[in-house]
Amino acid sequence: MRYYVWTVGCQMNEADSERIVRALQDRGLAEAQSAEQADVVILNTCSVRQAAEDKALSKVGSLRPLKLARPDLIIGFGGCMVAGDTVDGLRRRLPYVDVFFPPSEPDGLLELIDHRMADRDPTFDDDVASDGCLAPTVVASAGAIVNTSRPRPVARWLPIMSGCNRRCTYCIVPFRRGREVSRPIPELVDESRRLVADGAREITLLGQIVDRYGRDLRPQRFHLGDLLRALQDVEGLERIRFLTSHPRDFTEEVLEATATLPKVCEHINIPVQAGDDDVLQAMWRGYTIDVYRRIVARIRERIPTCSIATDIIVGFPGETEDQFRHTLDLMEELRFDVVHVAMYSPRPGTVAGDRMPDLLSQAEKKDRLHRVEEIQERVSLELNQTLVGTTQQILVEDTDKGKWKGRTRTNKLVFFEDPRDWLGRLANVRIDRPSPWSLQGSVVGGEQPGPVRPVLQPLPVLNSRSPAVPSNSLR
Ligand code: SF4
Repeated sequence: MRYYVWTVGCQMNEADSERIVRALQDRGLAEAQSAEQADVVILNTCSVRQAAEDKALSKVGSLRPLKLARPDLIIGFGGCMVAGDTVDGLRRRLPYVDVFFPPSEPDGLLELIDHRMADRDPTFDDDVASDGCLAPTVVASAGAIVNTSRPRPVARWLPIMSGCNRRCTYCIVPFRRGREVSRPIPELVDESRRLVADGAREITLLGQIVDRYGRDLRPQRFHLGDLLRALQDVEGLERIRFLTSHPRDFTEEVLEATATLPKVCEHINIPVQAGDDDVLQAMWRGYTIDVYRRIVARIRERIPTCSIATDIIVGFPGETEDQFRHTLDLMEELRFDVVHVAMYSPRPGTVAGDRMPDLLSQAEKKDRLHRVEEIQERVSLELNQTLVGTTQQILVEDTDKGKWKGRTRTNKLVFFEDPRDWLGRLANVRIDRPSPWSLQGSVVGGEQPGPVRPVLQPLPVLNSRSPAVPSNSLR
């Protein structure tokens, strides 16, 4: 049997899809290049914006003729569009879908696949089934991951918690992913070791508010700093990142761990969302711009080389031109390395979606989005220009158009040309040319590269991270 997985949304969705893929491969399924060639098609959806829902509905609609032609095709529809109050409506609207599964809970899907496989092959052992998306991957008795056909990305996502206890007025996530649930440290250390055994050298810890990790654990509560320290000892793991921080929850302890633990990279993603106190209040974000400024100043004081990324929503209900200009002013003042910008999209069921009229036109929102992008393009280029002539350590993740591609510890994308095999290795790269979104350089040292590769072809990867102002980060 062959599978095809289609994913939209944030890194948490990408991580969920990776886990589903691992579970499928553990069952012996192979990847198909298209839905048409697959026996199992899985759509992992996002509901943060209407456009993402429309995209998923259009994609699933395109599968209907396939299902009519091949009734044994399994179609799974999961992710944030699937919640207790949406399933009945989805079932009525999409009767040809076999199974709907909530975010991070693919058990129903995996059970159906196991039954189908058992029907086809009576010797199939389905005892490996249904560890769930957030459970450790199934390992073979020898301790190796049962995973032969898949490329081995060196940089992986690791969800350390699910859900969110906050209620930002625009956000659907708490209604779809529920309250915060953290995974115990030993389980995460075990999974990290398995990822490393499977080729990972960098792991990004994921949580909607990653700083709140461990508060729900009992009998003993833990902090993100405790987890970072525990992962520091995982042999073979070179780099650790974490996403996403919240200005209300960011702690001195996490900053200290980032400053002192050698494997923890100097990069913090801390969404501000708007540069105006009244807009922040309407969003129920729970901090003021002055508080945010002090956090950024403290990060830069403690770790001067730390890069800082943020998220901004433009066109929130009632956002005036003056209030929007405060956001632009803040960008000029704080000079972020990266800004993930998105136009406000009303979500039914949220306070803003149900009670705050969405008065700005799409054209006005687009105009604001472009003004944010314009400033950020200039600022990013200026910041990247300061790196020209420096040597950066790059973890090489992939190839792209005949060049090696990797990231600095500060999460900047770097390309360089070299005929030798650098995949998965640390390269020291001198930065020659900057652009707003990436850097071009020349390799000057690093780990021992492999032999010359005849042609640098892009590796097939499950999901790639966009270099340019993506708007899909965790909120
Ligand atoms: Fe939680 Fe983030 Fe959504 Fe706010 S924006 S409710 S912090 S997931």
